Amino acid sequence: MHEMGIALEVIRIAGESIPAEHAGARIERINLKVGKLAAVVADSLLFCFQVASKDTPAEGAELVIEQIPVKLYCRDCGRQWTVEEPVFVCNGCGSAQVEMISGRELDIDTIELVDEDSDDNQPG
Ligand SMILES: [Zn+2]
Repeated sequence: MHEMGIALEVIRIAGESIPAEHAGARIERINLKVGKLAAVVADSLLFCFQVASKDTPAEGAELVIEQIPVKLYCRDCGRQWTVEEPVFVCNGCGSAQVEMISGRELDIDTIELVDEDSDDNQPG
């Protein structure tokens, strides 16, 4: 399942992003940016995340999925615009020399930690 692979990747990256001095911290929230063309089903990804995050620092974390629109860039006239579906022709000059500059990516935007072990703060 496509979404399960993504969920595992998100959990892995999130786990690695916990700084050493916060080892043992739990992840409270992960803000994920998903391009509309990444073909991710949000409900499915949320479900996979819940299942796959068991016994990881991400267990119980809230996964917030923000969909980013598909943006195209025209190499001929420099125009940038957002499309609802992939149409790879510039809507300014009609050129086919267009590049997708956003919409396919899958980015972890921010990861928020909660430090529960505030009782073991040793002096020094
Ligand atoms: Zn153009």
